[in-house]
Amino acid sequence: MAPQTAPVSTVETMAGPIAGPVYLDYNATAPLRPEAKAAVLEALAAPANPSSVHRFGRAARALASRARAQVAALVGAEPKRVVFTSGGTEANNLALRLAIRQGGAKSLVVAAIEHDSVLRPARLLAAELGLPLREVPAGSDGIVPPAAMAAALDQAPRPALVALMLANNETGAIQPVAEVTRLAHAAGALVLTDAVQAAGKIPVDLAALGCDFLTLSAHKLGGPTGAGALVLRDDWTPAPLIAGGGQELGMRAGTENLSGIAGFGAAAEAARLALPMEAPRLATLRDRLQGLMLAACPKAAIYGAVVHGGVAARLPNTLCIGLPGLPAETQVMALDLAGVAVSAGSACSSGKVTPSHVLTAMGLPEQAAREALRFSLGWATTPEDIERAAAAWIALADRKLK
Ligand code: PLP
Repeated sequence: MAPQTAPVSTVETMAGPIAGPVYLDYNATAPLRPEAKAAVLEALAAPANPSSVHRFGRAARALASRARAQVAALVGAEPKRVVFTSGGTEANNLALRLAIRQGGAKSLVVAAIEHDSVLRPARLLAAELGLPLREVPAGSDGIVPPAAMAAALDQAPRPALVALMLANNETGAIQPVAEVTRLAHAAGALVLTDAVQAAGKIPVDLAALGCDFLTLSAHKLGGPTGAGALVLRDDWTPAPLIAGGGQELGMRAGTENLSGIAGFGAAAEAARLALPMEAPRLATLRDRLQGLMLAACPKAAIYGAVVHGGVAARLPNTLCIGLPGLPAETQVMALDLAGVAVSAGSACSSGKVTPSHVLTAMGLPEQAAREALRFSLGWATTPEDIERAAAAWIALADRKLK
């Protein structure tokens, strides 16, 4: 569980300062930003149903509109094309259904490194509706080659729905979405990009990407859990995933989660404003962490550490690193005991001892895919956190070497 306030590496006590836990699992959930917390509390302070006509309803509507504009600004979209959902998972499901039901998609071409919230509904829908589905693997650099997507599209009945995430949650590898969208559109396909991990960490511009559907999640950028969005490039007539009242462009019925939405908006704005300073700051910290680890465990050594997706463009906050011979679950537990919180693979699959499907889709052997750890940094990460995390991991690697 992520702490609800900014994790601090040093806590003042009566006995003097003591070291607190180091939280480096931002790709699972980022700690709530103070701006988001204030917006959540503001939204909770009064009865807040944006559909009500009276003053309370109007105030609630104003909060939702502000959040819609803040979220739209993060990805260069029009506010009226933002559909709030319960998170990234629901947004991905909604986009897939919309593409099939209204967009008439007759086949699915998805990257094999997609998050389960794309892969699993794609497999379910394909089986349910008898649609051909192709899962396109990545190269060893973590990038899905546009030529491989094009080749899969060539074989797919038209129109197809193409899904390629903007940045991978495990390796941080940034995908060639604009290029794939261009060639997909030329083949009459619709394109979904899951920007859940990219938003707030690198600039995201829906118009430049050109994709038809873009999805977001509040808790990955310092907002509350349980809020997300499907952002549309064009006008789509309502085709509800959840039927009921006409909320959220008629696509997603139910009284809005206003506190979640308000917190999402505030987090999106804070992340957007901080991005020009934060991205280089985090890249420096991540590179320092990686450098310390590789220096202690050079690749040439028997137990040399391996960075996955490290040669390609990747998110500034993410480091995926394997330590041969030591299962990731063991590393996670040992680091937790040492006060450092990280993940093995994606958060949704942690707890299971299955190898990461992302790393196997990059061609890694199962064994290596079971040994990779993900360190992910964010807005409250300090240089001290990095020194402590590196020292804890190096101590673990040293024990392995003995
Ligand atoms: N997409 C990606 C790339 C993710 O990393 C995640 C969460 O791990 C999701 C989607 C799901 O988002 P949510 O937790 O808001 O449902």
